[in-house]
Order: sequence, then structure tokens, then C-alpha cells
Amino acid sequence: MKPNGTLLNTRPLNGNGKHNDFELVDDLHAEEIGESHAATSIETPMRPDAFAMDDDHKIELITEHFREIMNILGLDLTDDSLKGSPRRVAKMYVKEAFSGLNPANKPKPTLFDNKFKYNEMLVEKDILVQSYCEHHFVPIIGKAHVAYISSGKVIGLSKLNRIVQYYAKRPQVQERLTVQIANELKDVLETENVAVIIDAKHLCVSTRGVRDVHSSTVTAAYHGKFEEEATRQEFLRYISGMNATL
Ligand SMILES: [Zn+2]
Repeated sequence: MKPNGTLLNTRPLNGNGKHNDFELVDDLHAEEIGESHAATSIETPMRPDAFAMDDDHKIELITEHFREIMNILGLDLTDDSLKGSPRRVAKMYVKEAFSGLNPANKPKPTLFDNKFKYNEMLVEKDILVQSYCEHHFVPIIGKAHVAYISSGKVIGLSKLNRIVQYYAKRPQVQERLTVQIANELKDVLETENVAVIIDAKHLCVSTRGVRDVHSSTVTAAYHGKFEEEATRQEFLRYISGMNATL
């Protein structure tokens, strides 16, 4: 049950950068949203019209607004070193850092039959995670380890990395990132038997606030056979040792 006046939807700055309207939704409306809202709570909160605007238009608007932020900070936008920054940031947001918001960029992995009848777990470890904290918009950097046990289908190895990267390229919280990757793997591989562990450093923790440069955050999702102790231990053993060196 959501509390009164839950902030459910926000509208971005309009063209002149002046207004920021918040739409407050009461309990009744929240009730109407019903079961589907609960079921999609692991989804990244997106506006329904998120992709009504194309990338070029988004870049134009973000450039404008970021220029305004720099302006307010007192920076001289006529300086050669600074004048290209608003557009650079805008392009980085839309085309790189947050490209995983757009379903059009979702990897479409090809599945193969498990011809070798390989029925043990497959572990892809040390996958680079580069994401952004959705509360501070600073990087989250770490590693993901994913595993699955084939239900008859196998996936190209690099596709596991691409799935991790796709969901990382969003403003995120690490818990949601972990769940989104696990759900996608279940979906794509047509099996419940998947596991995901993410170990990452949050720059909002290391460079501001509590400024702890040593701590990292570990999150995990275990499904199907990975809920069994022996399978989980096997996975943990693989990711804790045996680093391949080339
Ligand atoms: Zn943060």
C-alpha cells in the first residue's frame, strides 16, 4: 500500500527550464494501478511516453539543461575547454551511460541446442559492471558473476556479458540490477536455474557522504537449483578461485 501523496510520476523541465511539475497520485489511483504495479516494481520506473522523443531531440534538450546547470554553478561557457561539455554530457547520457533504458538496445541473444548434453552449471565470472547510482548519478563499478544450468538451450557466452551491460546502462540501484539480470537470464534461457552475484563499489559512497573507499556492496539472486545449498556452494567455489590468466 502506498502512502498518501506518493510521487508516482514526474514531468521533466519544460523548454524554458522553469517548471518542474510533480504529479501526486492518491491512494485510490494507486489502487487502480493494482496488481500490475506490484508485479512491475522490479522494473526501472519509466514514464509511459519515455520514447516518444527520439535520441537526437533528447540530446538537444539535455544539452540545453546541462548548460544551464554549469551556468548556475558560475562556469564560463565561452571558455574553449567548457563550451563542448553540455553536448558531450548529453550524448554520453543518451548514447552510452543510459542507453539500456531503451528496449530497442536490448540484446537479442540466439539460443543453440545443447548438443554436447552439457548438464553442469556454466559460470561466466568477473563480468565488468559499469552503472550509475540513480540517487546520485555517479558511477557504480564492479563485477558480476552469472551462472545457469541448461534446460536444453545454451547461449553464446558474450551474450551473458551483453545482458549484464544492457541492464547496467541505466540509472540503477544494485538490488534491482541484480534482479533484472536474473529475470532476463531465466526468460532467455528458459530455465529457473540461474544465479547472479554483483560485487560493486558505489562512487556515491567512496567520493562523497561517508567517503568510504574500501567498502563494496554484494547482492545475489539464486533461483531454481541454485536455491539448494550444494549447487550454491559449487557456484561460490568457482567464483572465489581458479582465475584464468592469459
Ligand atoms: Zn548513490
